[in-house]
Amino acid sequence: GEELARVDPTGSTCVYYLVPAAWGRLIWLYGTVEAKEELLPRFTRGEWWCGVATTEADTGSDLGNMQTTIRPAEDEDGYIVNGAKQYISGVREASTRGGGHVTLARQDLESGVRGMTLFFLPLTVDGIEITIDREMGREGISTGGFRIDDVRIPSYYVLGEPNRGFYIVHEGYEAARGIIACVCAGAGLKALENAVAYVKERRAFGRPLGRYQGIQFPLAEHWARLQMVRDWSYKALRLMDQEREGKAGRFEVSQAIAVAKLFSPMWAFDAINFAMQVQGAFGYSQECDEQRALRAIRSFGWAEGTSEIMRLIIAREVLGGSSWKGY
Ligand SMILES: Cc1cc2nc3c(=O)[nH]c(=O)nc-3n(C[C@H](O)[C@H](O)[C@H](O)COP(=O)(O)OP(=O)(O)OC[C@H]3O[C@@H](n4cnc5c(N)ncnc54)[C@H](O)[C@@H]3O)c2cc1C
Repeated sequence: GEELARVDPTGSTCVYYLVPAAWGRLIWLYGTVEAKEELLPRFTRGEWWCGVATTEADTGSDLGNMQTTIRPAEDEDGYIVNGAKQYISGVREASTRGGGHVTLARQDLESGVRGMTLFFLPLTVDGIEITIDREMGREGISTGGFRIDDVRIPSYYVLGEPNRGFYIVHEGYEAARGIIACVCAGAGLKALENAVAYVKERRAFGRPLGRYQGIQFPLAEHWARLQMVRDWSYKALRLMDQEREGKAGRFEVSQAIAVAKLFSPMWAFDAINFAMQVQGAFGYSQECDEQRALRAIRSFGWAEGTSEIMRLIIAREVLGGSSWKGY
């Protein structure tokens, strides 16, 4: 993720990698043998898109408020899905090239988040109608929505136990958030490298720009912040692996990942903005990679969980987690 962010300022290649990696991993962890055999080779070969669809037009952070439903089919094996998802990455890719989204919906309508089921929803089946959004950046990957009208999926597409989806979905989000933090560090550091090359060459008032402390001090601050993001992202992703070996706890991982993601989009955004500024008027031209990176990186302030939700996760653990009676 970090390296891809360095070479693709649109951020699109990073999204092509990070979303299928995080959500394909969830299928690998919780999918049935049939689902793994059918889907994972196609995802890893890059033939099919594997995304996530939790957000709806009227709810994003508050997953418990979603309206999409899933129910067992009455006449034969499988489930019937109805509803609509919005602001979903990879809608065009999945509907034209193949693949779909790890999707969350309500099954037990009386039980709130304890009644949600997670499953793979292909976008190439009858009953799916897509729309594509026009966005600020990320020109190389689509974002859009889809209506789901009486779509039947086979039972083997369900991930984990029915009605346990809310608990499983967070592991997908955490993998994605950890990689996003790496992406932000890579994009921000690449922008600073471009800025450094420029300020060493460009002269004003008789000296290279890089000789002025007015340039050096913010450069040092942005660089230091991005090193912290980078270190935390690797640390948090390592913890995620250690959880699989029984060496790290579930909430310890959630918190570390939230710390890694919390400032990553905004610190990268600020660093890229600084890199644009020091490049003078060129920074505002379409030829400057940084203006493209700025528009791409801003998306990560929302995608895969907002900065405010990262604060809620961190605060929950700092206050003592679920053991505190206040929760
Ligand atoms: C480029 C892009 C790609 C995306 N791709 C996907 C995708 O592939 N799949 C998918 O499911 N979703 C995707 N999303 C949606 C993203 O997950 C949501 O935008 C995000 O979860 C927030 O939901 P929302 O937009 O409905 O905002 P809301 O949840 O309505 O929140 C609005 C604002 O209020 C803040 N807020 C909410 N609750 C609180 C609180 N308790 N305290 C303080 N502040 C709060 C939020 O942080 C946010 O700033 C994408 C978004 C973008 C921008």
